[in-house]
Amino acid sequence: MRNVIIIGSGPAGFTAALYASRANLEPLMFEGDVPELPGGQLMTTTDVENFPGFPEGVMGPELMERMRKQATRFGTEIVTGMVERVQFEAGGHTVVVNGESHRARALIIATGAKARLLGLDNEKRLMGHGVSTCATCDGAFFRDKPIVVVGGGDSAMEEANFLARFGSKVTVIHRRQEFRASKIMLERAQKNPKVEFVLDTVVTDILGDKVVSGVKLENRKTGETSELECNGFFVAIGHTPQTEIFRDVLELDDEGYIVAEGDSSRTGVAGVFAAGDCVDHTYRQAITAAGMGCKAAIDAERYLESLD
Ligand code: NAP
Repeated sequence: MRNVIIIGSGPAGFTAALYASRANLEPLMFEGDVPELPGGQLMTTTDVENFPGFPEGVMGPELMERMRKQATRFGTEIVTGMVERVQFEAGGHTVVVNGESHRARALIIATGAKARLLGLDNEKRLMGHGVSTCATCDGAFFRDKPIVVVGGGDSAMEEANFLARFGSKVTVIHRRQEFRASKIMLERAQKNPKVEFVLDTVVTDILGDKVVSGVKLENRKTGETSELECNGFFVAIGHTPQTEIFRDVLELDDEGYIVAEGDSSRTGVAGVFAAGDCVDHTYRQAITAAGMGCKAAIDAERYLESLD
């Protein structure tokens, strides 16, 4: 029986591992396997300029490698494998990985979220080279350059407004006339002189050899096709939390995010804590996920103390 098992190896998981291992809890971490990259969303990011402590910026994969080293330095054990099933019991929680059962008194879930993608081949190929799913992270790379944002929800409006601070022009491409975005967010984007809208339109391809140079568009009503020049291509069509395996055992909200108690990382099950993007639909930053991982480790430590 372990003290703590951590599921997930993004910033939330590694920060929880760092704190738990420094508290001598000897945590066991499960990191994803193909197709889920260990290390989370930062593994598909290039320059990270907004993580404190790296004034020159740091590449996403390098940042994750550093977090990994720091967590293992204090005794975190890492096993690669996708968690298949969990079972919660008062005497200890069970995690099944690669057909094997592992038990722990406390469990920290940090499985993250996945930005939804359009599913175009070039979207994957040019990810981190003009294609992005995070305006806060990558907007500043497109100063005075034309930018495209796809989506018609609050995220797309928020990203369009934010990106207008950098880009020469921001074009929002949305697949229909009606918006899912709230009125206030939509109006803010519509009033922004740098933001233009192209409606009833889908992106059929992303152009560019090494970096994005434009997109191919198709009007869904007329069938007309066109090309639009851009250097930044931001996909803002929502996120999916990776919480499917917890559906029957934890309280999830309508969108599938794990529900935590108030400002803590405690879920409705004693000894089960959650941190990072699998809980958070608002901030979704590496640094906020790391902060939540720290909270989860402290909550788990206090829980274990209360048992002892
Ligand atoms: P969302 O509300 O689900 O909107 C997703 C948008 O992407 C929709 O307009 C949808 O089009 C479009 N879309 C989905 N799949 C697509 C595809 N394959 N191709 C083209 N377009 C596609 O997601 P969200 O904007 O990320 O917002 C999620 C939640 O977070 C919402 O509750 C939102 O209010 C909240 N949020 C709030 C704030 C804020 O208040 N500051 C900021 C961001 C997000 P259709 O409309 O045609 O389905």
